[in-house]
Amino acid sequence: MDYLKAAGKAVFNDQFVTKADVLLHSAETANHSIGLIGVPLSKSSISHSGASFSPTVIRRMLQSFTTYCSSSEIDLVNSLITDFGDVVMHATDITESQSRIKSTIEKILIDHQPNHMIILGGDHSISFPSIAAFSKQSKVGVIQFDAHHDLRNLDDGGPTNGTPFRSLIEGNYIEGKNLVQIGIRDFMNSKAYSDYAKEKGVKVFTVQDVQTKSIELIVKEAIDYLSREVDMIYLSVDVDVLDQAFAPGCPAIGPGGLDSATLLKAIEIVSSCSLVKAIDIVEIDPTIDFRDMTSKMAAYIILTFLKNVGKN
Ligand code: CA
Repeated sequence: MDYLKAAGKAVFNDQFVTKADVLLHSAETANHSIGLIGVPLSKSSISHSGASFSPTVIRRMLQSFTTYCSSSEIDLVNSLITDFGDVVMHATDITESQSRIKSTIEKILIDHQPNHMIILGGDHSISFPSIAAFSKQSKVGVIQFDAHHDLRNLDDGGPTNGTPFRSLIEGNYIEGKNLVQIGIRDFMNSKAYSDYAKEKGVKVFTVQDVQTKSIELIVKEAIDYLSREVDMIYLSVDVDVLDQAFAPGCPAIGPGGLDSATLLKAIEIVSSCSLVKAIDIVEIDPTIDFRDMTSKMAAYIILTFLKNVGKN
């Protein structure tokens, strides 16, 4: 009898359990309707960040979950994903790295025409080139889960994880009125950027709005509005929208955020909309995480996203 197993594989296997990492297939051997790409850029972070390590860890965390969704009795075993690998970043040049991200995603959209894309950051700066790539083909609306507006000026530090949505608006890749921000927190932004959001028509829902109106109503309102305005919806998930208790691996942790169940409920509702074609998950630094809690949240978000987009 052979007692050897491949290195890195689970020690215990239950013949009736399928782990979610089996959904990932290399682009060299597969072309499924759902694509995934890693974007390991975090030199653009205002504060210290090892978010460039997270695409690899998030992929690995899929091993922590099964493919079966108990509440809906759906098995995701056929929701196969083409893994395109990671974009190779320039060692020092942020603008060059952003250019590589944009051109790589544009090429995937043309060559493979995936129905849905999952983009793993990296810090939030990657949403600028990623969304810009989609805007070449479609009129894009964005639902952004975030504690921050990310509408900082570019004069003080160039393109950083504080500027992606300003760059998208100023570059005419998206219209301000087609950006919906959910989870904005007190004492984490400035009046200048709140005013800029109002001036550009950005729809802002604070964490207090989520508490008083409910996440269901807010997300449905966002979908109903964007569905009248755009061709596709891009979902951008900065894990700092979560309370620090739920995202210890996020560089910009803070109190007063959403709990993980609320964010997952939002992802579930949003991903059931047929216009939602892409999701990015950003701002996870595995080097400061605790027991990979935050990367596991990202893996769970991927599975929640898959649960509904598979029906579209
Ligand atoms: Ca952000």
